[in-house]
Amino acid sequence: RCVLVALLVISDLSVLVWRLRRRYRLSQMNHVMSELHYIANGHLDHRIPFHLHGQSQEVVTSINALVDSTVNSIAEERKVEQSKNELITNVSHDLRTPLTNIIGYLGLVEDHQYHSEADIVNYCHIAYEKAKQMKDLVEDLFEYTRVQSGAPIKFMRLDLSQMLEQVTASFELEAEKKHVAINSTTVPSPLMIDADPEQLGRVFSNLVANAMKYGNGASYVNLDARQRGSKVVVKVANDGTPIPKASLPHLFERFYRVEGSRSKATGGTGLGLAIVKSIVDLHHGSVKVTSDTKETAFTVTLPLHQPRTKKDQPTQQK
Ligand code: ATP
Ligand code: MG
Repeated sequence: RCVLVALLVISDLSVLVWRLRRRYRLSQMNHVMSELHYIANGHLDHRIPFHLHGQSQEVVTSINALVDSTVNSIAEERKVEQSKNELITNVSHDLRTPLTNIIGYLGLVEDHQYHSEADIVNYCHIAYEKAKQMKDLVEDLFEYTRVQSGAPIKFMRLDLSQMLEQVTASFELEAEKKHVAINSTTVPSPLMIDADPEQLGRVFSNLVANAMKYGNGASYVNLDARQRGSKVVVKVANDGTPIPKASLPHLFERFYRVEGSRSKATGGTGLGLAIVKSIVDLHHGSVKVTSDTKETAFTVTLPLHQPRTKKDQPTQQK
């Protein structure tokens, strides 16, 4: 009998314990739920502060991690949105200025507000120059957004030395006019690398175009490529007026131009180096700039080989 009573007491007790534990767990879950509702109501900086035992704690940890990652992606998206807005503001501004000029000068012709044929020619010439400036901006912008939006990159096996020579050749006429000696050296030559020929060509054209445009009083523009182990280091350098120290960290930002460049006759848009950086990034490389009274140099470091995925196997250039 005693045994029976003992057994009954034990079973009663265990049911009681089980019930208590269940109620405890339910209250814990209710607690977690109310915290979740609180977060879902927009309190995204709140995290579930208490610790639970065993598996329930894992649920709490996961919820907190989930909120963290959601908050991060919202912040990331806001940043992208903001930078897009900035892009639109800058482009609208840069398009409006030449457009106002074009309308102004063509308006004079339209309203017969000229004294001679020479006036008409002059007004049309200004309008023409401004229209070309707009075309450059639109082309730069197109290129920039294309590279940014992850346009497919086509890696090929190509000879860097040949590419640099082609770029040099395309600037020879301009260099001659400006009395600038332009040269390219590649060691070893040929030097085969995996790259997108069109995009990488643009990198070096943009750098040389800048050297020609801004190297005031420069006597040379040098392209020098050297293999360093599994990488190649290409230096595009010119002498002439150095870039102010304070500007160096900002050069690769889109629309950044050194103080005064915007108003100068050089009329660039400040997208060239942003394009350079995006393309170099797509090639898993890096680009940096140094500038002093002796020389301004842009150094591009690229891996010789690109990671091979099934999708973009480097193919032999035909
Ligand atoms: P874009 O290339 O879009 O026509 P841009 O040439 O002004 O316009 P970037 O190529 O991004 O724009 O160059 C940014 C700025 O860096 C230039 O405005 C110029 O002031 C400065 N810069 C670039 N390269 C040189 C250089 N080799 N020597 C001196 N200044 C330079
Ligand atoms: Mg430029």
